[in-house]
Amino acid sequence: MYKQTKLYGILKMKCPKCHKGDFFKGHPYRIKTLGEVKEKCDVCNQKFELETGFYQGSYYVSYALGVALFISVAVLHFIFKEKVSPISLMINFVIILFFLLPLIYALSKIIWANFFIKFDKKDVKN
Ligand SMILES: [Zn+2]
Repeated sequence: MYKQTKLYGILKMKCPKCHKGDFFKGHPYRIKTLGEVKEKCDVCNQKFELETGFYQGSYYVSYALGVALFISVAVLHFIFKEKVSPISLMINFVIILFFLLPLIYALSKIIWANFFIKFDKKDVKN
């Protein structure tokens, strides 16, 4: 059941249609293939770039993920520190953002693709 949810496909970075083939050419933190999406799925042949510049829309998703990350950092800051200065909050946010950037970049692309490519149940066995 979990395998059929979009969350599974996104977290495992699998093809949005069949949840079996890999979506990216390599690991998100592999510098050589950073965020590079495969042309099509190896398993179901789904094209991943639906039109030219398709992934430009994923900037909106990465913006939303960035805001969510900032809110998370701010909440953690308020929980664990008694006095919070805006400067220390910003420094911590930038440091965390720097290390999570490849992940956010990859997640924004696969989330964006999941908006437009529907999951097809019959391509999944078990
Ligand atoms: Zn597929």
